[in-house]
Amino acid sequence: MSPRCAKALAGTGAAVTALLLAGCGEGARAPAVRTADHVANVTTIASRTASRRASPPPLPLSGRVITVDPGHNGGNFTHPQEIARPVYDGNGYKECDTTGTAAPDGYRETDFNWSVALDLRRLLRAAGARVVMTRHSNTGVGPCITERAAIGNRTHSNAAISIHADGGPPGGSGFAVLVPAPIPSGIDQSIIVPSRRLGEAMRTALLGIGLHTSTYDGVDGIAPRTDLGGLNLSRVPKVLVEVEAPMERAAYRERVAGALLQGLERFLGRR
Ligand code: ZN
Repeated sequence: MSPRCAKALAGTGAAVTALLLAGCGEGARAPAVRTADHVANVTTIASRTASRRASPPPLPLSGRVITVDPGHNGGNFTHPQEIARPVYDGNGYKECDTTGTAAPDGYRETDFNWSVALDLRRLLRAAGARVVMTRHSNTGVGPCITERAAIGNRTHSNAAISIHADGGPPGGSGFAVLVPAPIPSGIDQSIIVPSRRLGEAMRTALLGIGLHTSTYDGVDGIAPRTDLGGLNLSRVPKVLVEVEAPMERAAYRERVAGALLQGLERFLGRR
C-alpha cells in the first residue's frame, strides 16, 4: 500500500471508502469498510422508519371517563313545580333541583355552569377523556339531583364534578369545594376518601389561577356536606365546586375550566 493510501485509510470512513474506490484497497479491506458504512446507513434508515411508525404517546386522560355536571338548568325557572318535587337524597328528602342563583346584573348561575362545563368538556376531550354530561342543553329542566348522581354511577366514571357558582352572603367571597361526608344511611362510603382527595386537587388548581378559598364556607376551601343528593348518592369520587364571581366574563370561565381540568388530572395522577 502506498503511504498516501495508508494515511488515508487511518481517516474517516467516508474518506477511506473514497480512496478504496479510487484503488487504494487491498482486496478484503474494501468490502469490510463498505460494510461498516452500509450498516450505519441501514441502521439510520431503520431508526427513522421506526420513529415514523411509532405510535404517539397516550394522551394524559386516555381511557378515563369523567362525568361533568353543570348545576341547575335554564328551564328550571319556568317549571317550579316539576323541580320542587321531593326526592330522596340519600340522607333525607330534598327538591329534585333548584334554579340556582344569579349575579346582581341578572347573569344566571345556570349560564355560568353551562359555559364552564362546555369549556371543560372540550379540554377533557383534548386530553383523551370520555366525557359524560348530566344535561345536554341549557334550556331544559333538571335532571333531578338523584339522576345527576346516577349518571356518574352508570358510566363508572373515574371522577365526577358538579359545577356551580355561589351567591354567598354580603361581603363573602372565595371558592369552596363541597365533598361528601359520612352519612348514617350507609350509602357507598368508600368514595369519601377519594372524593376528599379530588377536592384537595381542585383546591390546589383553583388557587393556582389566583382564586382564594371561601371566607364563609368550609375550612381552607373544603366543605364536607351530608345534605346534597348529588354527592350522597354517588358511588364514584365526586365533588361540587362552588366558584365565585365574576361569572359574566368568558375569559374567567375558561380559566376556571382550565383549573378544573388540572384538578382532575392531578387527582388521576397525571400531574
Ligand atoms: Zn348552584
